[in-house]
Amino acid sequence: MKKVSVECRNISLSYGATDILKDINIKIEPGEFFALLGPSGSGKSTLLRLIAGFNQARQGQLLIDGTDFATVPPWERHIGMVFQSYALWPHMNIWDNVAFGLVERRVPRDELKKRVQAALELVDLAAYATRKPNQLSGGQQQRVALARTIVIEPQVLLLDEPLSNLDKNLRIQMRQELLSLQRRLGITTIFVTHDQEEAMTTADRMAILNHGVVQQIGTPTKLYDFPDNHFVANFVGTMNNLKAQIREANAETITIGIGQSPSIEISRKNIAAIPVDSLTQGSTVSANCRPHHIRIEREAPAESLDRAWISGTVRSSEFLGEFTRYLIQTASQMVTADHPHRAGQPVWPVDCPVAVGIDIQQIRIMEASHD
Ligand code: ADP
Repeated sequence: MKKVSVECRNISLSYGATDILKDINIKIEPGEFFALLGPSGSGKSTLLRLIAGFNQARQGQLLIDGTDFATVPPWERHIGMVFQSYALWPHMNIWDNVAFGLVERRVPRDELKKRVQAALELVDLAAYATRKPNQLSGGQQQRVALARTIVIEPQVLLLDEPLSNLDKNLRIQMRQELLSLQRRLGITTIFVTHDQEEAMTTADRMAILNHGVVQQIGTPTKLYDFPDNHFVANFVGTMNNLKAQIREANAETITIGIGQSPSIEISRKNIAAIPVDSLTQGSTVSANCRPHHIRIEREAPAESLDRAWISGTVRSSEFLGEFTRYLIQTASQMVTADHPHRAGQPVWPVDCPVAVGIDIQQIRIMEASHD
């Protein structure tokens, strides 16, 4: 099977007077597992349905394997789509459910048999061929839905929140199965989800959407470590957006202070895309850092080159198993810090004075957040 690319070029789509997708530019590489991630209503399903051919763009191009598909109807697109509700035929057994698309395409009987058997084996359900959907678990039904789509040998696989009807443990198991199936087949796959963990654990790359606008595209680690804006930073994990003042700025570095902290030197490569003229002495920026990059000690060490220490008071703690998440009030603002947990280690009590040490290398500077 040929691996194909999928490219959205300047795609906009409106429902009536409402713009739903705004100038979408995404290139998905052949064989890639690509996630569309965003909150509910951000336009993910609308974009997926556009790729499938069920929605029409107001403007822009959809290229599959380099060819403009705007006028190609859905049934000629070689695209398979799996929905959140598996939509299996309840009166048909599993074999017939999987065979359905091939019967419709009038595939000869011998070939049909081979392909249905292979698809069922691929999802490990060959032994269940004669059962009805209601005799299978949710995870098994989801696998039937996948087999039914794969059997038609699509060039592109579209998955619209395919795991959200499953309970948590099964979801975790199924996302690994999905990924290993995708790897074996090598089909270009686009996976819609609002769950950042699901996207990060499966996708080669992902696009984050908000209000129909692509916020950033990249590998999960790139988006987590180098978010372009506050929305991405906060959507893929918890982030401290600490107000900081620029005390000095020069060609290679800027020096900031977070409240009354000692001066912190930040390399220019740790500054997200912000207008250069807002990086002047005296202006306010946001110093972003993830909670696990902040250490808590009873007192700041006498000497510390790699961390900036600020004193504060514990306001609350949440024990989460692997770590405890603390909210610490400093003179200028609240700081969230995660402290790895070890058996027998006491948690810092509420009202306890502490010092928080921010890992300077992990600070990313952005425009000041407006909240
Ligand atoms: P997501 O998949 O990210 O949850 P959707 O693509 O389903 O978001 O929806 C994006 C926006 O488009 C929402 O505001 C939704 O209300 C609107 N929308 C979706 N389908 C239609 C439709 N058929 N007519 C009008 N508005 C729609």
